Amino acid sequence: MPATNLSYLDPARPEPWSSFLEQIDRVAPHLGGLSHWIETLKRPKRVLIVDVPIVRDDGTVAHYEGYRVQHNLSRGPGKGGVRFHPDVSLNEVMALAGWMTVKNAALGLPFGGAKGGVRIDPRALSRAELERVTRRYTSEIGLVIGPDKDIPAPDVGSDQQIMAWMMDTYSVNVGHTASGVVTGKPVALGGSLGRHEATGRGVFIAAREAGKRSAVPIPGSRVAVQGFGNVGSIAARIFAEHGAVIVALQDAEATLFNPAGINVAEAIAYSATQGSLAGFPGAESIGNEEFWAVESEYVVPAALEGQLTARRAAGLRTRIVVEGANGPTLPAADDILRERGILVVPDVLANAGGVTVSYFEWVQDFSSFFWSEDEINARLESIMIKAFAAIWQMADERGLSLRTAAFIIACQRVLAAREQRGLYP
Ligand code: NAD
Repeated sequence: MPATNLSYLDPARPEPWSSFLEQIDRVAPHLGGLSHWIETLKRPKRVLIVDVPIVRDDGTVAHYEGYRVQHNLSRGPGKGGVRFHPDVSLNEVMALAGWMTVKNAALGLPFGGAKGGVRIDPRALSRAELERVTRRYTSEIGLVIGPDKDIPAPDVGSDQQIMAWMMDTYSVNVGHTASGVVTGKPVALGGSLGRHEATGRGVFIAAREAGKRSAVPIPGSRVAVQGFGNVGSIAARIFAEHGAVIVALQDAEATLFNPAGINVAEAIAYSATQGSLAGFPGAESIGNEEFWAVESEYVVPAALEGQLTARRAAGLRTRIVVEGANGPTLPAADDILRERGILVVPDVLANAGGVTVSYFEWVQDFSSFFWSEDEINARLESIMIKAFAAIWQMADERGLSLRTAAFIIACQRVLAAREQRGLYP
């Protein structure tokens, strides 16, 4: 299978869509009669590319590229985040949408897979400019999103405020308040308690379940976390609250190391005021590459895709990798980690806490009846534990990686839905 199976992709930049294709190819032999439908997963159902022009604060007009990709809608409306980052590309958004299809099906959530993004550096725009980008992008993709069509959420570079502007813009355009069009909103606008923390909490639950079965208890374990945004910082905090020692942290600007343990609450407060971990006094600053050689029991990549390369996998000194980010491990690195006996808890399971609580938010918005944080966290635990157990059992019985097992369960659900619905016309 060529890395770019579609004419509209740039063959010079195959990643990360080529990683997603390779993961689908690896699962195809395990799908029995349903493998007949496998091509469905190698082509997004719908790809929308939009121009996002805004007037900048200095009066000039700037144009940005925006995307919304609906990879598969066989099991329900599209669901997936919106990324604001200077490296966003169609290829990347397609892969992220594909992983959402797999994740939603692996967890049994009634959604298809989608993703969006705008190719901008949000930190280089003023707040007013960011609002204009968000509102224009939302209007442009308004054709394809909606509470029963496709429901965006936060991802890298976007947050609750962006979701509030998206909800407001869509609502103004349709003429009524449509809370269910996005999730990850502020609680005052129909957001859910627990959503902000949900992805990091789910990463921790997945790690704990993997640790239980691999005799790597959380208390006293050493943990290295790459990425200190929404996912990484909250996962690190919950690990530390359960007695783990956070020995290394990395963000886009710094890598910190402290074998005695980094105080996560202080690091979060520092990063919130300084904009990054650079200069944090409670740890030694080490080189970027050294992060991957720190001795630990758990490594949590929670930044961007493609971070765990074959070379880094060969040098990793840990027991369990828990993928907080989407697509952080390249397929070649996956093979090396498996040979080396390092367990990988795949993104489509490990970081699914966010979309699970997004699902709760969507249900609460539809019913206009809101749950307590304890109820939300208990339901999150129960869905994550059930999905983890089913994936672990299949991997164990068939001698497969957790990723392949998760993909089998998910792809069977998606392709069975495809088959039962049939093709129109
Ligand atoms: P974020 O924007 O809040 O944080 C990203 C972090 O990664 C920042 O600390 C940034 O400095 C760091 N980073 C960026 N480039 C880096 C690099 N080259 N090396 C080291 N660190 C780098 O984003 P987030 O919402 O925490 O998302 C992180 C990952 O988790 C992404 O892959 C995202 O798709 C995935 N994810 C997020 C959610 C969610 O609910 N936010 C849910 C599921 C998966």
